[in-house]
Amino acid sequence: MTDLLITNARPMGGAEADILIKDGRIAEIGANIAANGVTVEDAGGRIAIPGLVDAHTHLDKSLLGYPWYVNTVGPRLIDKIDNERAVKREYGLDAHVQSMRQSLQSVGYGTTLIRTHVDIDTDQGLIALEGVMETRRQLEGVVEIEIVAFPQSGLMRRPGTAELLDKAMEMGADLVGGLDPCGMDRDPKGHLDTIFAIAEKHGKGIDIHLHEGGELGAFSMEMIFERIRAMGMQGKVAVSHAFCLGLPDWNVSQALIDTCAELDVPIFTTAPPSREVPSLKRLHAAGVRFGAGVDGFRDTWGPYGNGDMLERAMLLGMKNNLRRDDELAMALDVCTTGGALAMDRSAHALEVGGRGDVVLVEGESVGEAIVTHQPRKLVVTAGNIVGRDGASLRARP
Ligand SMILES: [Zn+2]
Repeated sequence: MTDLLITNARPMGGAEADILIKDGRIAEIGANIAANGVTVEDAGGRIAIPGLVDAHTHLDKSLLGYPWYVNTVGPRLIDKIDNERAVKREYGLDAHVQSMRQSLQSVGYGTTLIRTHVDIDTDQGLIALEGVMETRRQLEGVVEIEIVAFPQSGLMRRPGTAELLDKAMEMGADLVGGLDPCGMDRDPKGHLDTIFAIAEKHGKGIDIHLHEGGELGAFSMEMIFERIRAMGMQGKVAVSHAFCLGLPDWNVSQALIDTCAELDVPIFTTAPPSREVPSLKRLHAAGVRFGAGVDGFRDTWGPYGNGDMLERAMLLGMKNNLRRDDELAMALDVCTTGGALAMDRSAHALEVGGRGDVVLVEGESVGEAIVTHQPRKLVVTAGNIVGRDGASLRARP
């Protein structure tokens, strides 16, 4: 970890100040801080924000570096899942190379913390996990990567997957994943009992993909709540997407949101324009921890996206009809400090004692920085300069 003094920055768009990072932490924010031999970077009046947090992505899936993928995939979830397995085989997709490409692209955009769901299935076994773990090793000090062992192809419908998830946790995955216990596995009890048992065995948390909408999604949420209560796993179980929290019937969705608050269930969104999503303001009002991510991008699932969490803050704002500057600041919080908090990292704020992750962005205000999302001038991870002028310093493979 390097010490660094950033001068003439505007923390969160406020008055100019210097930011001193020592031993990877923010040691001081104020006027005219003495350098005392520390490396100095002049922010030139740019806005300083905390490191961006991509709390939901799939580093092993991106086709970055390949020619444009001509997508002819069918409309159902299972079509996309089956297609992806076939393409992976055809391309011989290397999860290490792809995760390096995506991670470094994200670093250029100012992301310093990532939660990635990595495919574990009976086709490819644990090879994607090994690849992403290698990326995590190589990018230590550049970007922090948290890994969810993710049964993308189903759990109960593909015998042998549970054993692979168990092994993935032994190898060093951080969380157990899950996927649509009704819609995908058609065995919600089997699916949820299995992932909760694996999590309990390894003393780890859970992050479940729940695309199930409406009443079906609400049913799965209730089953997740039951298990959190029974096993005392409050604060340890997150739900990604949670489209059912965007149910038009507010009586039903508010009850689910209130239970998420009661049982401390963090929610992660990708703010997809095509789906009903949990409302940022309603989750905020209820006190539910809330993060956002870019999800997979430029992969067999879809052509959109680039890894930019500042752009995602804009999409989150558009999806949630946020127009006021104070509302845009809420969207940025979800994509930085709030997202980190949803990942159980409490010291990811631009304040003394916080992690020395700082990004310099362009704009008169935070609102303008989000809306224009121009190339990031500087990206700092724990006091190390890791990106400049929109690109990571380390070249992409
Ligand atoms: Zn996902």
